[in-house]
Amino acid sequence: MSVFSKIYETDLLIVGGGIGGLMAAISARQEGADVLVAEKAHIRRSGNGATGNDHFVCYIPEVHGDDMDVVLQEFYSGLAGSFQDKDIVRRNFAESFERVLDWERWGIPMRPFGYWDFTGHSFPGRPRIWLKYEGATQKAVLAREAMKSGAKIVNKLSIVDLVVRDGRVLGAVGIVVRDADKPELVAIRAKSVMLQTGSANRLFNSVTPGWMFNICRCPSDAGAGRATAYRAGAKLVNMDVPYTHAGPKYFSRSGKGTWIGVLTDYHGKRIGPFVDKPNRECGDVTVDVWTSVYSEKHKDGSGPVYMDCTQTSEEDLAYMKWGLSHEGNTTMLEYMENEGIDLRKHKVEFSQYECNLRGRGGIEINAECETNIKGLYAGGDDLGNYHASVGGAATTGWIGAKNAVRYAAQIAAQEAVEDSSEAQWLADFTSAAMSRVDGPTWKEGNVALSQIITDYAGVDIRSETLMLAGREYLGNLKRKFLSTVTAPDTYSLMRTLEVRDMLEIGDVIFLGGLERKESRGHHKRSDFPFTNPLLSDKMQTVRLVDGQPVVEWRKRH
Ligand SMILES: Cc1cc2nc3c(=O)[nH]c(=O)nc-3n(C[C@H](O)[C@H](O)[C@H](O)COP(=O)(O)OP(=O)(O)OC[C@H]3O[C@@H](n4cnc5c(N)ncnc54)[C@H](O)[C@@H]3O)c2cc1C
Repeated sequence: MSVFSKIYETDLLIVGGGIGGLMAAISARQEGADVLVAEKAHIRRSGNGATGNDHFVCYIPEVHGDDMDVVLQEFYSGLAGSFQDKDIVRRNFAESFERVLDWERWGIPMRPFGYWDFTGHSFPGRPRIWLKYEGATQKAVLAREAMKSGAKIVNKLSIVDLVVRDGRVLGAVGIVVRDADKPELVAIRAKSVMLQTGSANRLFNSVTPGWMFNICRCPSDAGAGRATAYRAGAKLVNMDVPYTHAGPKYFSRSGKGTWIGVLTDYHGKRIGPFVDKPNRECGDVTVDVWTSVYSEKHKDGSGPVYMDCTQTSEEDLAYMKWGLSHEGNTTMLEYMENEGIDLRKHKVEFSQYECNLRGRGGIEINAECETNIKGLYAGGDDLGNYHASVGGAATTGWIGAKNAVRYAAQIAAQEAVEDSSEAQWLADFTSAAMSRVDGPTWKEGNVALSQIITDYAGVDIRSETLMLAGREYLGNLKRKFLSTVTAPDTYSLMRTLEVRDMLEIGDVIFLGGLERKESRGHHKRSDFPFTNPLLSDKMQTVRLVDGQPVVEWRKRH
């Protein structure tokens, strides 16, 4: 008899009920498909958009004119960078305005001042592509729309593995984290699956290593999409060049593009070339394009680097605080209020944050959001060849789900997954980890792996010998951790399974880094300190073939 307490059947399983997952659910329901959303937290308040966002990257013809290429060019030059396939970017921008209008119709204020307001993350004198909106309620609105559409939502369900046979996805297995002592093991038979689990975080040390969850991204987005896809044979792409964000030092919070000030040194001298006084339309885009400025200036002694809002007008400060409040930065605003921090008088020290995988370093898709596994689709911050963010999560969710439904319509019936080797592994692992009385906990595993990845494949310096040594240490950790870990309750089991995913992803980071014999972005090699022009238009992929990792290069399209 199966130990799986619940077996679901659906046309489309969506893994992750964040921005992209909920958009996928609504999109698929419009086509009349059965949809099940598996969300490890709760769809009303989960993922990176849980407490709001305030910039929706998009192309609006009445604002930008008829030439979409102008907008795409801005997208590549700024925060998003060039690790993206252009056909995917084009496909998504072409649909972005329709999704903006959907959100507005559903009740998310997309033009709170009555017009399309594009500010922040921009170069002076160039087109602005980040639409300011009022996103604090976005998750509640999308959750309501998804439920209204008739999608089946299972909260607290963390997906652990996909089941793929003969290159085709058959479903997934996971655990429900509700009863503290007894996890419910769940199997989902699905004709198609869409991964929407967001960015991969907690792989590198946080800026305050004692506080592992003090990071600028949702700490529960721990790379499940990437790891499950990889184990199932899907390609991961651009895993070797990490991403870092920046913002107020120690108070790790995304939202740098919302600040209206000038990046300056200790003496108030501006650092970047873009603005010399606060500019509401553009912000100081130095924060987006010189992402290592804080660490570089700290190391050479010319730091610290500050966000200086002392010259910002009262009106612009109010606008900035309004933006921050819609971007989930309410605790930081409250802290400044409580501590008497007055931005007209006090500069705020900024720093580079922990690395994460976002916008690059993820699942490879084509412009229809298909992976190389039949029936498996992916979207949002799970992707490695498209810097999705909010706008892209909304559009990929929409596009991918429509294609997944079309694919599912060709599949005669769902197949059993509860007797698969993946199901058996989960049952055995759960029983072993939960019955062990002694052994390391998930936290020890997480601390050890982030320490190793930070030290041996971090942003400071990489080299062949460092990465070879680091990969060996990580492999040793993986073997020891998985065979000795103890998970005294269901919650710990979920975190333990996240660590398993991170160990897998960490290995791919090392493999990719070893294969990239050049320096590019945050991948800085002491043994190959130059940027190789021959790799400028290339994407690196890693996948498992017969259990062995294969690293390949292909042209960017
Ligand atoms: C404070 C902050 C401000 C930001 N501001 C902006 C902004 O203004 N503009 C912008 O473009 N971007 C912004 N971002 C980034 C933006 O929020 C993300 O790009 C966006 O939310 C990505 O959507 P997603 O659906 O891909 O992932 P998410 O919204 O992160 O959703 C992923 C979901 O998957 C679930 N999940 C994870 N693992 C599993 C599993 N194993 N099983 C089941 N479910 C799982 C998670 O719980 C989560 O609900 C900001 C981020 C933060 C943190």
